[in-house]
Amino acid sequence: MAEILYGRPVAEAITAELTERAAALAGSCVEPGLAIIRLGENNSDVAYEQAALKRCARVGIKTRLFHLGADAAQSELLRAIEEVNCDEAIHGCLMFRPLPGQLDERAACETLSPDKDVDGITGPSMEGVFSGTGHGFVPCTARSCLEILDYYGIPIQGKRAVVIGRSLVIGRPAAMLLLARDATVTICHSRTPALPNICREADILIAAAGRPGLVGAGCFNPGQVVIDVGINTTPGGICGDVCFEEAENRVRAVTPVPGGVGAVTTAVLCKHVIEAAERRLKQRN
Ligand code: NAP
Repeated sequence: MAEILYGRPVAEAITAELTERAAALAGSCVEPGLAIIRLGENNSDVAYEQAALKRCARVGIKTRLFHLGADAAQSELLRAIEEVNCDEAIHGCLMFRPLPGQLDERAACETLSPDKDVDGITGPSMEGVFSGTGHGFVPCTARSCLEILDYYGIPIQGKRAVVIGRSLVIGRPAAMLLLARDATVTICHSRTPALPNICREADILIAAAGRPGLVGAGCFNPGQVVIDVGINTTPGGICGDVCFEEAENRVRAVTPVPGGVGAVTTAVLCKHVIEAAERRLKQRN
């Protein structure tokens, strides 16, 4: 049977480390701060916000909420982002996306100060991810995949990694992180023919397509570690992209959904806020 790679212990280990780093920052009179910008009342955004607020409280990160209507005008959103940029008490900002259709999302992202871009949404952050300089911040979900691999001691260097999905939020940055750790990486997408054949070759398989059941028996090999990023709402409840029951007795290790990658992302968000606060302190000194 496969080892189940639960996210919770990963998140707890990160939280414990961050609590110490927040205390060290407090010793230098810095209280890390996170702003959250949310438009409308999307259920999954609200649930994620609640989880993030709880995690921030545990770590010692102050939070400031900007709640705008789903019908907000671009100028209203940009004003909120400018306020975030100017507020010295805020070190990082999470803005829920996709934004409502009437808004120019790219312009909004680019208004955010790159120093506060703890979820990798600005051009400079993306450049850091793709050039491998480590500047800026990686999108939290992509980094969560690597945090899971590292926590469970799964080697990356020299391994064959396959990433399903090429979005800028998960697939591409996750692939770049694996590449930076010397994996040999293949990125698959909706036009990739013979997907199972490619997946079967993987030592590490990351599924981030948002297609329930996409990754089934034909995609696995016995030495494989499978990270399921997908979150899909089906009549049977929440599930990932991976057929968990088919993976369980065919691979070396697999993350569950829920309780896998999703359980780690708020901890990574907090990690980025602490890093942003530490970077600013370093610049000041
Ligand atoms: P997205 O922007 O819709 O991108 C999905 C990607 O999957 C695209 O690149 C798409 O290919 C590819 N794809 C779709 N169908 C495919 C197929 N049949 N075969 C191969 N590739 C296929 O989604 P996303 O924002 O990256 O999110 C992906 C999943 O992660 C969603 O289920 C989302 O809910 C979940 N998610 C989880 C977390 C977490 O914390 N666990 C956080 C955020 C999102 P094309 O580019 O060719 O269209």
